[in-house]
Amino acid sequence: MEEARLVEDYHPETAGQRHLPERLVLWDETLRDGEQSPGVRFSPEEKLRIAELLSEVGVSVINAGIPVVSAEEARAVRRVAEAGLSAKILAAARTVPRDVEAVIDSGATHIAVFVAASQVHLRFKLKMTPEEVLQASLASVRRAKDAGLHVAFVTEDTVRAPFEFVERLYRAVQDAGADRLVVADTVGVMTPLTFRWYLGEFVRRVRPRDLSVHCHNDFGMATANTLTAVEMGASAPHVCVNGLGERAGNAALEEVVLALETLYGYRTGIRTDRLYELSRLVEECSGVPLAPNKALVGYNAFSHEAGIHTHGVLAHTLTYEPLQPESVGRQRAMILGKHTGRAAVVEKLRERGVVAPDATVVDLLARLKEGAESRSKEETQRFLEAYRARFERPGLSDEEFWMLADAVGIRAVKA
Ligand code: MN
Repeated sequence: MEEARLVEDYHPETAGQRHLPERLVLWDETLRDGEQSPGVRFSPEEKLRIAELLSEVGVSVINAGIPVVSAEEARAVRRVAEAGLSAKILAAARTVPRDVEAVIDSGATHIAVFVAASQVHLRFKLKMTPEEVLQASLASVRRAKDAGLHVAFVTEDTVRAPFEFVERLYRAVQDAGADRLVVADTVGVMTPLTFRWYLGEFVRRVRPRDLSVHCHNDFGMATANTLTAVEMGASAPHVCVNGLGERAGNAALEEVVLALETLYGYRTGIRTDRLYELSRLVEECSGVPLAPNKALVGYNAFSHEAGIHTHGVLAHTLTYEPLQPESVGRQRAMILGKHTGRAAVVEKLRERGVVAPDATVVDLLARLKEGAESRSKEETQRFLEAYRARFERPGLSDEEFWMLADAVGIRAVKA
């Protein structure tokens, strides 16, 4: 029996409201924005391992980093670019000549040229006029095109910039040869409704040949906003594995892909059954552990404890699961605890070939609940303490900082 799974199986009225792109060009930012997460650093070897797996699962574009950042970063980008992966390798540059040259020298075939667009960024950070931003952007885009690169143009904080300026800037760089235009919600202030309006207006006023978006998760809407953009035809959304990225992160690769695949029946070209493997690799290399309730890849995403739920899932998984755990390379788990019900106990016994009388099952269940309720929380508390100590202050300690300062002859004035 084939059950309804797609959104339109329940609500066929919504089908005509989407304009999904012909082909998805998934653009992964794990190695750039993801690495910019506080305390995260990927070695060149780790970048290569992650890039290889990203490419194997079918990601189209990989932002390998910003070569001008350091000699090691330039080496990492070069290693990824020269690895012969099927994904296109991109590197990023500010609208500064040496940044663009560093990308040209890196061996990447794709470049993202970025500059800020909003007034708060221009006035307080860049100290540039809109005209200066426009000229620097044009020069960088032209130089990159002359060098034969595929050019994406990105503005930071696009959505908080005056639309007149956004329109003028993006039209100009597109006329100068930019292949792809990226709208960024750098501080995550868009909502699906607002972003829908914004992108409609952007498309009408700028007429992008190829539209991409970069969404942040400050209010937990990165995936929703990214999905909104894809529904409006944006073909190259930015994503990060595990939703890694600055502050609250970027749109999670696995969430955007599985929402499209599962809810819309859209073929993304991604090997979804390897996404858990990818998630674990990025978790290990970044050192950023997933929240247990993280969608799709968190420990609880396919686990059930409550009696009503386990009973339902054992009868038919669609009762409490929108997709099969195997579709992301995982397995379902039934957790025994305070909320366990009879069905889970019966199933647990059945796995070892035992059929027990009802009264015995009831007795066993009572003991199981009692055991769960009297279990010490000490181990969990100790784990949490260690976790907090690690993450409340990632990076160098104050002692380490002042030792380095001392080494260059600086002494603290105040205690
Ligand atoms: Mn970002």
